Formats: sequence, C-alpha cells, structure tokens
Amino acid sequence: MDYRRRLRKLRIGLDANGFDAMVVSHLPNVRYLSGFTGSSAALIVTGTRAVLFTDGRYRAQAREEVKSARTVIGTKPPIAAAGEWLADNRNLLGRGLLSVGIEGEHLTVASQKRLKAELGSTFRLKDAPPLIEQGRMVKDRNEIDCIRNAIEVGAGLFDSALATIRPGTKEIDVAGAMEFEARRRGAEGMSFETIIASGARSALPHGRASRQPIPRDGFVVCDFGVILEGYCSDRTRTVYVGTASSGARAFYAAILDAQRAAIEAIKPGVSCEAVDRAARKVLQKNKLARYFTHSTGHGVGLEIHEAPRVAAGQEQLLKSGMVITVEPGAYIPGQWGVRIEDVVVVTETGCEVLAPKQKEFIEV
Ligand code: ZN
Ligand code: ZN
Repeated sequence: MDYRRRLRKLRIGLDANGFDAMVVSHLPNVRYLSGFTGSSAALIVTGTRAVLFTDGRYRAQAREEVKSARTVIGTKPPIAAAGEWLADNRNLLGRGLLSVGIEGEHLTVASQKRLKAELGSTFRLKDAPPLIEQGRMVKDRNEIDCIRNAIEVGAGLFDSALATIRPGTKEIDVAGAMEFEARRRGAEGMSFETIIASGARSALPHGRASRQPIPRDGFVVCDFGVILEGYCSDRTRTVYVGTASSGARAFYAAILDAQRAAIEAIKPGVSCEAVDRAARKVLQKNKLARYFTHSTGHGVGLEIHEAPRVAAGQEQLLKSGMVITVEPGAYIPGQWGVRIEDVVVVTETGCEVLAPKQKEFIEV
C-alpha cells in the first residue's frame, strides 16, 4: 500500500482547511495512513512529519508494519502522548495559535479533555472534515485486490449455509457452520455478526442469528462477511425453505429486479441517490417500496460501513475505484422478508459485480 501518497493527500487537505496538524485516532484511519494494525494508537500528521504513538505491547509489531511514520512507544495513553509531543515540538509547527484537527466522530469527550490538558492554551482543537474518509472512498488497485479476495472467501460461506439450512436447525448453528468455514478459509474474523433470519424473523432487516429453529416453510435471509488482510466482505442471499408459493416467488423476483436495476445504474458520474432511486422505482412498481426500509447500499473497505452512503439525498457522485454494496430488500412485518446484496467496484464504464453467483431463487 502506498502510505506516503495517502499522507501527501491528507496534508494537502489539512493545508487547504487551515490546520497545522491532525491527530488521527480512528484505528481504521491510522491503519490506512500507516499500515499499523494494533488496537491502541494515535497518529500525528503535520505538514512535514508523521508520528505514530502506541504502547509497549506493540513495539515489535509497529517496527515491522509502520514505514511511513516515526514510531514512539509510550507509557501514557497514545492520545495523551500525541498531545505531549505536539506541545514539546510546538516550535516546529509555527507561531501564534495553532489549529489541530481531531476526529470528533471518533474521539470521546474524555480523550478530548486529555488531549487539551497536554496541549495547553496555545493550541486550538477543531473537528476536522472527513478528509481521510473521503480519500478512502476511492480504492487503489491493491485495495481492490484485497476486497476481491475477501469477497471470494466470503461468498464461499454460502455453501455452508446451504448445507445446514434445514427445518428444525437453529439459526445460530447455521451461523456457526459458516463462521467455522470462514476461519478454515483463512479469515481474520467476521466483518459483522452473521445474520440468519428465518420465518417471520426474515422481516427483521438485522435479524442476528438466534436460537430459533428454522421453520418448515418460509424465507431465510443470510447476511455475512469476512475480514481478510483487513478488508471486509459483505453479501446477502435469501433462500426459501419448503415449497414456495407463487406469491413468495414473485416477492423474491421483485427484489432481484430492483437489485439488478440499481447495479445497471452504476457508473462514474452517477449520484448515489440515483442508484438508490433505481432500486426503489422497481419496488414501487411492485407496490413494495414502503417495505424497503433501509438504504440501498454503503461503501465497504477497511470498515464494513464506510463512505459513500447509497441512499436518498446522497449527492455524492460515483467515481471509478469506489466499492459499494447494492442491497435492496423488502420486509413485511410478521410475514417475511427478502434481501439480496452484492459488492460492486465502480469501473471506468460501469461496474463489476464481485462474485456474482447464486442469485436465482433457491428452495431447500
Ligand atoms: Zn450485508
Ligand atoms: Zn451491507
């Protein structure tokens, strides 16, 4: 990964927004800029320097992973150590009141206090615009390769789901089989809690696998993802247990049509809201729009949910290299729900669906 290029880009953004330095504390952002994968860190980025603070547990790991920044192993919490470094090196940064950017979305009030206490009165803390998140939206070739691998491995878990989904099997046992398989295939972990929602629970868009036995008849929504080399996969498939009515088949077909319409709408220059609208329009035609209660998709990368959001009111334009999910669904409370989700990479001319298999209606 080209960490130096990422730092250069951030510096341009900081300069344009009048910041003398930024304290990066959100760990996925620290990783994005430095390669450090530990669970305790803060990274200072100034116009000319990058310094990573962590603790003694990560001495060897930081030395191995971090090439784009100097590493300081401290005894204080990393955020306090970062504040202390800024205060000690104040003269390097400039004169007068210095403006330090923080990630307000991710820094607790207690940590902000700690940082302020170290800095004293000649620094001003200011919430920085989401410069790093904006940079992360467009993936480079290495990142796309990582995501592609994660999705290949993630997609394979659906075979474990199909092998275990039977009437009477507990949802949690299906999730267990999938998660075991994920580890067997080399996953570092799951990118979120596996969703297995059967019967009437399929109408819960975020129905985490429960101890409920799968009923004899009805949909089972399976939403699952793995983490591989730090990158997340995300995929949803919905199957039918038993013999489906024509109503169930038509319901599924409407969601699949909506998903295909959204995928077809994706190309550089198209807004995220336009992609969302394309899915909603198909569901409207099928009188299901009011049961589509979430957004059409989200960016995916080092985090399972990242920018951009593919939803109504999102004017962000798609660019080649963005990686987003397309996951329309419809949920009729007390009855059933269906969702179909793929991850796509925006290309120069449209998009590429990663591991596009297994979308047709399946009865088990
Ligand atoms: Zn998902
Ligand atoms: Zn998703």
